Amino acid sequence: MSLALLRWGVFILLCLFAPQAVAGDAKPRRSEAKGSRLVRLKNGQLLHADAADAYRRMKAEARSKNIYLWVHSGYRSPAKQRRLYERYRKGKGPQAARPGRSNHQRGLAVDLVIGGVKTPTYDWLVSNACRFGFKRTVRSEPWHWEYRPRSTREPKPGRDCVGRPLKRQRPQSPPVASTEKS
Ligand SMILES: [Zn+2]
Repeated sequence: MSLALLRWGVFILLCLFAPQAVAGDAKPRRSEAKGSRLVRLKNGQLLHADAADAYRRMKAEARSKNIYLWVHSGYRSPAKQRRLYERYRKGKGPQAARPGRSNHQRGLAVDLVIGGVKTPTYDWLVSNACRFGFKRTVRSEPWHWEYRPRSTREPKPGRDCVGRPLKRQRPQSPPVASTEKS
């Protein structure tokens, strides 16, 4: 009798906890490096766990407005930053910070695919990224955003991140089918 009760107890516990186990995909996955705070985004890029959480929330909200965010470059190992810096120094690559000086090495910077500064994606970021703790930090690199929650603030009521009045919510057009995966 008591064994049967125990079995039922285990069964009920499994039912209670199984959904969370299944939903484990939503949890950030730790990177291979032991003790690291890096997690992997669905497209393979690594970010600091806190930046990744904020980025995922930002991406989800952007997506609800038909804006698709994509991280082209997140965390960089010291070796990768050194390579990029050397290419930049030789005039063979885009601007790159000295190794040890880039927030990419801390997993707190993202280079986003924005398609230029006159695109809806860039405009959405300018209007909304501060609410998720992201800000632009390099004047010549509109694609480079950093997770700096301590120096970003919620916009004033009725305003966006740069003080522009919020547009009235228009009725949404039917969602456009997309093949993007994350
Ligand atoms: Zn960058």
